[in-house]
Amino acid sequence: MTYDQLMADGTARLKGAGIVNARLESRWLLAHVSGCQHSELISRGPDQVPEQTIAAFLDRLSRREGREPMQHILGTTEFYGLEFLSDARALIPRPDSEIVVEMALERISREQPAFVADLGTGSGCLLAALLANRPLARGEGVEASDAAATLAGENLTRLGLADRSLVHRGSWTGWQNWAEADLIISNPPYIASAEIKGLMPEVREYDPMSALDGGTDGLDAYREIIGLAAQGMKQGAWLVFEIGFDQKEAVSALLDQAGFDEITCRKDLGGNDRAIAAKRPIV
Ligand code: GLN
Repeated sequence: MTYDQLMADGTARLKGAGIVNARLESRWLLAHVSGCQHSELISRGPDQVPEQTIAAFLDRLSRREGREPMQHILGTTEFYGLEFLSDARALIPRPDSEIVVEMALERISREQPAFVADLGTGSGCLLAALLANRPLARGEGVEASDAAATLAGENLTRLGLADRSLVHRGSWTGWQNWAEADLIISNPPYIASAEIKGLMPEVREYDPMSALDGGTDGLDAYREIIGLAAQGMKQGAWLVFEIGFDQKEAVSALLDQAGFDEITCRKDLGGNDRAIAAKRPIV
């Protein structure tokens, strides 16, 4: 069996499983198990593939046929220019969330120390992206899932950010440091429960449900966080959320009713409303 044959077989099987970028993904998987760059595979095309590599490829292929996300199979993914471990313990970092990081970074000084918090940190990607880009900042990730908290810790350590961060294991309702934060960021679960069944299998079956399900109208987490933030956050501090494409009005209204100021929304690269920021007023 040659590399070319194996890649073609892989492409056909992934196509059969309804995967759009079948050829590309077949190539990624073969490169991954061969331990080489995509470009190297081209020159190896007519060579025979070692038995062990074939077995490893077929294993990854059947996982992908079962619609396990590529990021879990490869074990890492890139977010905001950083590499994150990615597996079933937490929501996969998504490019859509990069705009949330950008909105937050615009509100954190480069010259002054700052304390930032990430509620429901999951993989730790939002917190890590903030700390990596603001060397004077320290931060805390709050995570109710023990498995996700462990993953966040692993990612922060791998990225050299462990000495400026800590992961609080527990829900944000029991978290005590609201008044310390200069900025709180969160990508909470925001899918309405009834919409979960319509998600792609990669999301529905493999991202943790606790990272997706936002209750009946998808807004449970926003209500909870905004309620606590309105009580506990320091004056002049920022709250920055990721939101669902159709949640701009609802989340703006919640922020407004809770007395937040300077409510601003930003679209992602796909043109959907994706990030919202608001300030706890100084009175
Ligand atoms: N953006 C995710 C999705 O579309 C949902 C993430 C979330 O609920 N925070 O699957």
